[in-house]
Amino acid sequence: MEHKIIAINAGSSSLKFQLFSMPAEVSVCQGLIERIGLDDAVFTLKFREQKISQTLPVTNHQQAVDLLLSSLVQHGVVTSLQEIEGVGHRVAHGGEFFPDSAIIDENTITRIAQLNDLAPLHNPVNLTGIKAFRTALPDAKAVAVFDTSFHQTMAKMDYIYPIPYSYYEKYGIRRYGFHGTSHKYVAHRYAELVDTPIEQLNLITCHLGNGSSICAIEGGKSIHTSMGFTPLAGVMMGTRCGDIDPSILPFLADKEHQTVEALNQMMNSQSGLLGVSGLSHDFRDILAAAPQNERAQLALDMFVERIRAYVGQYLVKLGKVDAIIFTGGIGENSADVREKVCRNLEMLGISICDEENHSGSTIFSASRSSIALAVIPTNEELMIAQDVMRVEKR
Ligand code: ADP
Repeated sequence: MEHKIIAINAGSSSLKFQLFSMPAEVSVCQGLIERIGLDDAVFTLKFREQKISQTLPVTNHQQAVDLLLSSLVQHGVVTSLQEIEGVGHRVAHGGEFFPDSAIIDENTITRIAQLNDLAPLHNPVNLTGIKAFRTALPDAKAVAVFDTSFHQTMAKMDYIYPIPYSYYEKYGIRRYGFHGTSHKYVAHRYAELVDTPIEQLNLITCHLGNGSSICAIEGGKSIHTSMGFTPLAGVMMGTRCGDIDPSILPFLADKEHQTVEALNQMMNSQSGLLGVSGLSHDFRDILAAAPQNERAQLALDMFVERIRAYVGQYLVKLGKVDAIIFTGGIGENSADVREKVCRNLEMLGISICDEENHSGSTIFSASRSSIALAVIPTNEELMIAQDVMRVEKR
């Protein structure tokens, strides 16, 4: 029997959605409402080879949800809203409450709100989306899918920071990790692809996009990931610095009389590829500029080197590794970055096949490589829809 499930990703001024027909996993339509809160919000809907784009005032998320749902009926994507049986919401932070996706009820909503402090830019707005859909589709099964859940399997020694333990107890300061939906999705896709139970595979997954993170997965469980208490940690990103010496912050606060907010802004929005190159946060711009621009080349080299450092760390952590998987806008599209990350690692059993890498093959390791190299496009929306089908009330 066919079930229509919608996956929702609510941002502070945007709402992304994709409607699936399950269990066939067919995408029926997708779209986006941007600039929510303004008079010239933009609504884009793509379905059956058609693309509709409309500029109109959208005051808040409730209006955005109503607009989206009425358009689905108006354009005949669904005949009635009752057809939409399930709604899956991407939620940034599930803290230690949610080791898995969860049915949304009053209790779930309260817990998500309790985590607002840990993800102030995301959880409150995710909740706004959740509430808007509860009003618009009160009978649909609603499920929250957390970026953090997949990493709840990390060992304590890997998630506690070496600062006074009381801060963990008092504020929940620990490594949480993010991009969990993506890491889990590509790991499971790889297991399907090689027709091997995930329990028998050790994988390193590299999600490389505007935000990037690396994950060590043992038998299907995340045992370590590069992001930490927040998505700022780990590898270098488009505008985020990743791991730096924490003493830089008090030093700068002192020298430049900078506030905590300004330092936070610097690390999140003015660092990474943009900060080092002074040119752009976009990886394509950096790649294009590198041959003639020393700082773009430096940013590129640093980006790659930091990924390699995590791959090295995770090879040691996992002991045996079956495959390294690349995903995200950069990981999926840049043969160049995959080549740079994987080169000169023959002594570790990693050999790349240049031809397969450049021709876009899913597996691009050389036949002699004892560790497979793979590119798997991520699909967080589908994973959310799958979770809506899978998760039952606890
Ligand atoms: P987000 O983390 O916002 O979801 P994406 O996963 O879409 O981001 O990744 C965006 C990044 O992917 C950008 O830095 C962009 O330059 C890069 N990218 C997209 N296409 C290519 C390509 N063909 N080659 C290199 N980089 C690419």
